Amino acid sequence: MHIEDAPSPNFDDRKHPVSLLVLHYTGMESGDAALARMRDPEAKVSAHYMVREDGRIVRLVAENGRAWHAGVSKWQGLDDLNSRSVGIEIVNGGHDYPAPGGQLPPYPDVQVAAVIALSRQIMAHYAIPPKGLVGHSDIAPSRKIDPGEHFPWQRLAEAGLGLWPQPDTGAACVWSGGDASRLNAHLAAIGYDITDVPAALRAFQRRWMPASITGMADADTLRRLAQIAAAYAPAS
Ligand SMILES: [Zn+2]
Repeated sequence: MHIEDAPSPNFDDRKHPVSLLVLHYTGMESGDAALARMRDPEAKVSAHYMVREDGRIVRLVAENGRAWHAGVSKWQGLDDLNSRSVGIEIVNGGHDYPAPGGQLPPYPDVQVAAVIALSRQIMAHYAIPPKGLVGHSDIAPSRKIDPGEHFPWQRLAEAGLGLWPQPDTGAACVWSGGDASRLNAHLAAIGYDITDVPAALRAFQRRWMPASITGMADADTLRRLAQIAAAYAPAS
């Protein structure tokens, strides 16, 4: 894996050990524009790595530094996620820079392969568990929607990174959306901050049910939620 260095001044000291890997999209017009922004001291943003569309990897901040990528965020009750994570920015225009046909711009295979290789190395090095692989939208559901519903989480899981239980369409749903405490408990068991439940529910759908980001606690969503919660917190 070839990694090119393009140092950013936008980092400080970690206060906690690494236990998470956070994936982002750049959401800008080009990789070069994103790189310039992340190296601009005025912007006060960065990431440890950026993965270009052709799979080339750029290192901006050494992993022992606290890169500034997560912002105000929370996962499984923990905050200061910049101190607890490695952050990868994946070059993709996202929702603000759609493909010419208007759809979300796809992540090229060669880029996904590079993200998988880099993520595998990071997760092995820090012994990050599968549930420690998160998207920016998972940890900041009220503010962020990256890396987007078009990000191939399932392919990462097939490569051994993160969890992707196959949807169990046959199982009967044994609880109703009216049971708000159960809805909240399942979202929290996975790790979502439930200060804003509708936002957390949309973030959940963006990650686990990318074809139906409705914000509605319908039967399919409740079934999927119970399934993912069971995978994340098997003891409860
Ligand atoms: Zn982000």
